[in-house]
Amino acid sequence: MTASATGSARFLIVGPQGSGKGTQGVLVAEAFGVPQVATGDIFRANVSGGTELGKRVQSIIEAGDLVPDELTSELVRDRLEQADAASGFVLDGYPRNRGQVDDLDAFLTARGEALDAVIELEVPRDESIARLRQRAAQQGRTDDTEEVIANRLAIYERETAPILDVYRERGVVVRIDGVGTLDEVTRRIFSALAERGLAPDAGDAVSA
Ligand code: AMP
Repeated sequence: MTASATGSARFLIVGPQGSGKGTQGVLVAEAFGVPQVATGDIFRANVSGGTELGKRVQSIIEAGDLVPDELTSELVRDRLEQADAASGFVLDGYPRNRGQVDDLDAFLTARGEALDAVIELEVPRDESIARLRQRAAQQGRTDDTEEVIANRLAIYERETAPILDVYRERGVVVRIDGVGTLDEVTRRIFSALAERGLAPDAGDAVSA
């Protein structure tokens, strides 16, 4: 079973908190028949499960700070080495800074692999803050308080947004307007990927 017409589907989805990248990342992963790997979800599952890792990262996550690169990159490497990620994955929330880009590069290069596309979801700051406030009211995430939201967005702008320049130089960034309904944004993503020859294999496609 191949993930795409070109045989692989190795994607990152990047955007500020509240850009909808979690939801869109799942849809892309399902369509291409590859796992979505969201570091935030993995950390939260460890916190709620009370694991050793969870205990180490809980206070960092609650403050909205970044978990150390070494720990995060090891977690991602372990996940990407699993069989279901052999032909592709959708990474969400990783890499988040330049050091993690280097770690991911080293991992992929050693395997003779490379990213097929980096999906950049563009959402203005005001819009992402409004969406995060709404999510805070609905889900009650401990890192969705006003102060922590401000810290997370500041870290995004300072450390994460610049990694897009690195990928832009490599010509793999697919820029998507993230303002609109969920369906509109999904359609934009799939047509932009298709324009680059990245369409799910017919056999793997899941109806929307
Ligand atoms: P997210 O759900 O992606 O917003 O992630 C929630 C929290 O998990 C972040 O605020 C960080 O504390 C931590 N986290 C997730 N991904 C990473 C990463 N790639 N590097 C460091 N910390 C991360």
